[in-house]
Amino acid sequence: MTNSDDFRKWGRDMVDYVAGYLDTIDKRPPLAQVSPGYLRQLIPDEAPHQPDKWEDVMADLERVIMPGVTHWHSPHFHSYFPTANSYAAILGDILSDAIGCIGFTWVSSPACTELETVVMDWMGKLLGLPDSFLSGEGESKGGGVIQGTASEATVMAILAAKMKSIRDIQHTEPDRDQYEIMSKLVAYCSEQAHSSVERAALIASVRMRLLPTDEKNALRGDALRKAIEEDKAKGLIPSFVCATMGTTGCCSFDNIEELGTVCNEEQIWLHVDGAYAGSALICPEFRYLGAGLELADSFNFNAHKWLRVNFDCSCMWVKNQQDLVGAFHVDPTYLKHEHQGQVIDYRHWHIPLGRRFRSLKIWFVLRLFGIDKLQEHIKTQVALAHEFEALVAADKRFEISADVVLGLVCFRLKGTDDQNRELLDQINKTGKIFMVGAMLNGEFILRFAICAATTTSEHVKYAWDIIKEESCKVGAKEQLNGTKEQLNGSKEDCNGTVQNGKE
Ligand SMILES: *Cc1c(COP(=O)(O)O)cnc(C)c1O
Repeated sequence: MTNSDDFRKWGRDMVDYVAGYLDTIDKRPPLAQVSPGYLRQLIPDEAPHQPDKWEDVMADLERVIMPGVTHWHSPHFHSYFPTANSYAAILGDILSDAIGCIGFTWVSSPACTELETVVMDWMGKLLGLPDSFLSGEGESKGGGVIQGTASEATVMAILAAKMKSIRDIQHTEPDRDQYEIMSKLVAYCSEQAHSSVERAALIASVRMRLLPTDEKNALRGDALRKAIEEDKAKGLIPSFVCATMGTTGCCSFDNIEELGTVCNEEQIWLHVDGAYAGSALICPEFRYLGAGLELADSFNFNAHKWLRVNFDCSCMWVKNQQDLVGAFHVDPTYLKHEHQGQVIDYRHWHIPLGRRFRSLKIWFVLRLFGIDKLQEHIKTQVALAHEFEALVAADKRFEISADVVLGLVCFRLKGTDDQNRELLDQINKTGKIFMVGAMLNGEFILRFAICAATTTSEHVKYAWDIIKEESCKVGAKEQLNGTKEQLNGSKEDCNGTVQNGKE
């Protein structure tokens, strides 16, 4: 394919294929039904010397690729957390691919830099972030940057915190060696924090303490203060706290106000990881979840999770740009330009040098949906989670395991972990819906997340019917060991299901 005529034609074929795929995605099993190594048997051992025909490439999509795809945008997909998708974002990405710039400095592609600065301010205002995070607000020293993932945002935050701790200490004790200081730094997060937070500390070579949470699975100020006191008594230097707004396991919320107060007193960097839940801040009724954000040094959420912008698009803000830029400043001649210092050079804001024109897909989404539609999307998905919660709560064999705040419902059969594990296994084996489990307070729970933007009440009811049906099979197996009460409960409901099935 070398000319634009082919591109015009084949491009139309691909757009048709993509639209058709998404229109009928609910007909495919949400979880790929293949075994490891399935693909190698389906394609040649080597790349072709002469170009393949377009028709043959297209035909292979259904033969080779689709059987091995787990369909994240199926309304029957209820695993993990959502990942965003929209035609608006796809269109923005097509243009980004066509421009194909590497926008590491302003001069390497001014629009790539300037649009990013502007849409990050738009986005910050949309989330109701404190003005101190926005770049275009009066005295503010803050600003936003698009990172690839929340994991990278956390790595950036902890690295910036580390350099800041060293600078702060050397300010009063100029003779102290930076490597000696580094060896004493401590970072904190809750036991419920995402695994990427622990990894960020490993990457940054900072010791990390996982702190216990309260009965709502939230990290509180007291627990942090106690840990800080213990560590200071040992001669260590508390440097960084990562609070989670919407944990991955059960969507719990650390107390940002309490943690922020402690961090500000102790001059510790507070980063808030709102990878999933951050999107909800666009709705005024969910703004309370971000209470205390003004005390944080950095904040991050994944627009690619819940805000209709395709992966990868993790929006990160810092209160003081210099803390990021100053932490990693290197300045080779070939990257210098005459406007240096007056404009943002995003290469200083993240790990790689190269960067794609990712702000286009945000710009397209914000303009082609508008704020009202995006708010409606979040509200609808939260309402669907509450619908599912009500179905679970009405069945006495089950219990809700954590408060349902946004689009995630954690629940379990009142029974053993093994029973719940088997239930999950059976549900996924049907190939009709896909869910994952998690450990919460020492118990195995099932997670039901509202994921695809096309999920409706019907899909929620359909999923619940499957869960109910499979729970009878698990219940039946357990009859010998089960308590009487459980048994009776199962029987009643299972008979109901069977009868419905006959109708
Ligand atoms: C999903 C998630 C992450 C990881 O996100 P990536 O962008 O894949 O790195 C981190 N933290 C929380 C709370 C998450 O839900």
